Amino acid sequence: MSNPGKNFLYTLPIALKQGLRHPKRKLLLLGLIPLSITTLGIKQELVEAQEAKITNQQTAYINNWQNASFPVENFQGYTSPFGPRGRGFHYGLDLAAPKGSYIRNWWTGKVVEVWEDGRCGTGIVIQSGSWEHVYCHVQGRVETRSGRRYLIDRGGGIMLPQGQVFPAGSRIARVGMTGRTSGPHLHWGLKYGGRWVDPALILREMYTQQTRQLSRSENRYMVTYNSEVVSN
Ligand SMILES: [Zn+2]
Repeated sequence: MSNPGKNFLYTLPIALKQGLRHPKRKLLLLGLIPLSITTLGIKQELVEAQEAKITNQQTAYINNWQNASFPVENFQGYTSPFGPRGRGFHYGLDLAAPKGSYIRNWWTGKVVEVWEDGRCGTGIVIQSGSWEHVYCHVQGRVETRSGRRYLIDRGGGIMLPQGQVFPAGSRIARVGMTGRTSGPHLHWGLKYGGRWVDPALILREMYTQQTRQLSRSENRYMVTYNSEVVSN
């Protein structure tokens, strides 16, 4: 079966520490937000996306993202932002990671769909309340057993049944090259109330909240440590 034991909190600070091993890629990361802003501006669909962005920016700030998981292990950098791309629109954020790296469930929710197509490749949609999170280009195939659909990636020990709930941080798949992609990465899409949201907005808010939480717990640790020193 899948992997309920591996659902410890995989936070953005941890992911960024991994990213620090690749200094150039960290620069890419820091450049992401201004990049997504400079690419805004022309098309009708973009106007709609901006409206969604404003609505969801508010949503990002009112939510508590401290238990959300960064969606991929061995993160190397963002390779394509949410926004217009060529003649179309890129409804997600691309996160590069070596092939075979585990993908982690961003937020506790139910697997509502697993499928295969020529674009997304092998894909997963997980629903968490009004949010839907989409994972594309993952390894493995969709198989039906006793009327139930599963994403199966034998090499990664993954068996993901449609309809099952997974906690945030669970390993749900591995980075692959299925569908239309020129290199191994996770295409990560987010929808709120049926509208696409720029995942970078959510990651930024997660980062702020989780960094704050981390420094609070470090302070607590220091206090405990100091009082032990005094009492001894
Ligand atoms: Zn993409």
